[in-house]
Amino acid sequence: MDLTWIGTGIMGAPMVRRLLKAGHRVRVFNRTIEKARALAADGAIVASNPSEAIEGAAMIFTMVPDTPDVLRVIDQISSALVSDQLVIDMSTISPAASRKIADSLASRGVAVLDAPVSGGEPGAIDGTLTIMVGGTPEAFARAQPILANLGKRVTHMGAAGAGQTTKLANQIAVSLNCTAAAEALLFARQGGLDPARVLEAIGDGAAASWQLNNLGPKMLVHDNRPGFFVKLLRKDLRLVAEAAKEYGLALPALALVSSIYNTAAAMGHDDDGHQSVADALERIAKVK
Ligand code: NAP
Repeated sequence: MDLTWIGTGIMGAPMVRRLLKAGHRVRVFNRTIEKARALAADGAIVASNPSEAIEGAAMIFTMVPDTPDVLRVIDQISSALVSDQLVIDMSTISPAASRKIADSLASRGVAVLDAPVSGGEPGAIDGTLTIMVGGTPEAFARAQPILANLGKRVTHMGAAGAGQTTKLANQIAVSLNCTAAAEALLFARQGGLDPARVLEAIGDGAAASWQLNNLGPKMLVHDNRPGFFVKLLRKDLRLVAEAAKEYGLALPALALVSSIYNTAAAMGHDDDGHQSVADALERIAKVK
């Protein structure tokens, strides 16, 4: 199938490689064009602008950071979109914006799915992402065989925006779990234990989590290389807070964790992986 992919960063690039491996023709575009060009060696066709990128594509994927970035791309491709093309936005953005995009393109015969993902860079490389999809059942049925190349669990959550709302619920659990893992390991070390042994002891029990088991070992050696940037998690927590305000819902634990991640950013961790919350907690506790 002829596909287009816009946004070939940490997540987008390995996802494109999976689609190429599955035999699809993929035309790619990225704002910093070198990142798109890096995929030419894998067989991607590099477009020089977004509207050239979508020409003749059955499906157009976007994987860019935030709501304004998706809106910019939609604006850039809007006049070149033709009916029957399917736009699949896999970025994490505002559910309300996803609904608006779907409504505005529906009148042109262009279907839109919001299909944000969880599972990080390793999931993108292995094709084991969790994919949460909002949109019409017809559009979901069209996209499902392609999405199966990218994710091990692809779930249709409901109408436009439902994928994003699911993803934001996921991010509440991710941020709280990651901070809990960091605090548990800090506590264990200050209590005189070897935190690596604590990880071994509790990593298979009731405290087990993807965050504890995958990021705990990185926290112990201060490996803050990004799989998922602190700045993107802070963006997601802002989206959660905006949606919660819309629902009139108090989320006190989320508010606390947001302020911890904002402190981590103020300490210079915005371009680090979100496991760097462990370093921030050490500094807050004045622990060496
Ligand atoms: P990233 O590495 O920053 O990649 C985003 C890419 O989009 C960058 O290469 C950026 O180009 C490009 N871009 C931005 N605006 C653009 C535009 N107008 N036109 C074309 N390209 C544009 O971020 P990521 O980690 O891949 O995350 C992408 C999305 O997935 C985010 O919404 C994030 O929240 C979500 N997500 C990430 C993870 C993870 O673990 N990383 C997990 C789940 C979900 P430049 O190089 O010019 O900046």
